[in-house]
Amino acid sequence: MHSGSTANFLTRENSSRDLLGKFHKDSSACIRARQRVLQCLSHQFPFALQLKQWGVQNEVKCRHCEKYYKEKNIRDSPDTVESAGHMQCYCPALQLPRIAVHHGIWRELMFSIQKSSTELNHASEPRWHFPSALSPEAHAEWGLYKILEYMGLHEILPPGAGQNRVRLRKDIEEYHIDFDDTDIDTCIARRPDGLAFDKEKKLCMFW
Ligand SMILES: [Zn+2]
Repeated sequence: MHSGSTANFLTRENSSRDLLGKFHKDSSACIRARQRVLQCLSHQFPFALQLKQWGVQNEVKCRHCEKYYKEKNIRDSPDTVESAGHMQCYCPALQLPRIAVHHGIWRELMFSIQKSSTELNHASEPRWHFPSALSPEAHAEWGLYKILEYMGLHEILPPGAGQNRVRLRKDIEEYHIDFDDTDIDTCIARRPDGLAFDKEKKLCMFW
C-alpha cells in the first residue's frame, strides 16, 4: 500500500476516485486533459519547482509572473514560484483563463440541471429557465442588476444616463430587503455562479 501524498489524497473519504476513474476511461475526453489530471495528481507535472526537485533546472521563478509584472511596469514584484498551487490559484497572469474555466464548469453544471428539470408551471411550460446555461457569454454576464432587470424589477439605463447604482440601491430598499449599507454593496457586487428563474412566480434561485 502506498503512503505518499498522492495515495493519501486519493484514499480520502469522498475523494471522487470513481469519477476520476471514469474520466480516465472516457475516450471522448481529450487525451492531453487526461494526462494533465494524472500528472497533477501524481506530482509529475513539470512545473519549475518540480523540475528543480528533479535536478533538471535551477530556476523556480514563475515566468508568467515575470512577464506580467514587467509589462505592467510593476517594480518590487513579489517573488513567485512556479508550482501547481501558484498556477492553479494565484498566478495573476492566468487569472482570465482561471475565470473562464470556472464559468465553463458552472455552465456545464447548469446545462445538466436544466436537462433534468422537468417541473411544469400552471401554463404547462417548463417552470424553471436557465438563461445563463446557453453560452459562455450569457453565463459570465449575470450580476444583480441584470437578474433584477430580467425579472422585471429594475431597469438598467444606458451608459451615461447615470445613477444606476443609486437607483438600484433605492429599488432594493423598496423591496424591503433589510440590509445595512455595506450589505447592500456586498449584495450588488455579487455575481452568482448559477441561476434559474421561475418567471410566473417571479422567483430566482442562485448558487
Ligand atoms: Zn505566476
